[in-house]
Amino acid sequence: MSLRAEGISITYESADGRRKRAVSDVDITIATGEFVSVIGPSGCGKSTLLHCVGGMLAPTAGRVTLDGAEVREPDPARAAFVFQDYSLYPWKSVLDNAAIGLRFAGVDRRTRRERAMRQLELVGLAEVAHSYPSELSGGMQQRVAVARALTMEPDILLMDEPFGALDEQSRRRLGVEMSRILTAAGKTVVMVTHSLDEAVYWADRVLVLSRGPGRVIQDIRVEGPRPRTLDFMTTPAFDAQRVRLFTLLEHEYDEAERTADRPAAEEPPGAGTKLAKDAAASGGPR
Ligand code: ADP
Ligand code: MG
Repeated sequence: MSLRAEGISITYESADGRRKRAVSDVDITIATGEFVSVIGPSGCGKSTLLHCVGGMLAPTAGRVTLDGAEVREPDPARAAFVFQDYSLYPWKSVLDNAAIGLRFAGVDRRTRRERAMRQLELVGLAEVAHSYPSELSGGMQQRVAVARALTMEPDILLMDEPFGALDEQSRRRLGVEMSRILTAAGKTVVMVTHSLDEAVYWADRVLVLSRGPGRVIQDIRVEGPRPRTLDFMTTPAFDAQRVRLFTLLEHEYDEAERTADRPAAEEPPGAGTKLAKDAAASGGPR
């Protein structure tokens, strides 16, 4: 399923009328089966953009379409979310966690358990289906979160720093495994990350956003085998792309320092509606 974002700008408005532009005039086209990572200085609007692409946040200008149809609300059956903090229910088994989105969708118990089990097998967690999240490592918990998203059989997986809570070695290993699984499943993936390694390692393309309000300043193609293997990380091609990204980001951070936003221009993070929508889109709690 191809994804297009056209002329997207997003401005937050607080209750007292203060406005803050978070994303500025973003155009993106992502083809079916592509892996795209999104990188940029913190606060530049990466999460905002991803929420907008997932239909959780309406753009102030522009539109998002999936195969030409405008996205107006979250639809986990088309684009499912995986968040950094796993968002698992601690009191539910791994299997019930993986099936929760289908439960919200009103699918009967037997069917949802079958479908969830299939995805747990895919991510290598069938054996712990009846365990509880606290009995699993961080990497395994994140695989449950991925299985939960895949159980919705979405065309697109939207991931917001999904491995951010894991140590470096775990995220690399999980990255290899996820690349294998998602490539085999033919999923389109958009992943926000703050790790340059991860951005290059995973992706067919890396979108680099400017300091906030985020614009796309580079769209870099990464040539490498798919699914990716750890060997790819030791190639000169990998290194060259990584250095290129590093230089681009350094420049953005320098500029950000030079034109430092006055704190008064920042609005406090909003609560409420956005969080409630997050839960609906991931099929899990926040
Ligand atoms: P990133 O994910 O790149 O770190 P975000 O998308 O979270 O950046 O935030 C972009 C900008 O928008 C930041 O300046 C942030 O403070 C602001 N922002 C994020 N969410 C809200 C909100 N709900 N209300 C007001 N401002 C927000
Ligand atoms: Mg973010």
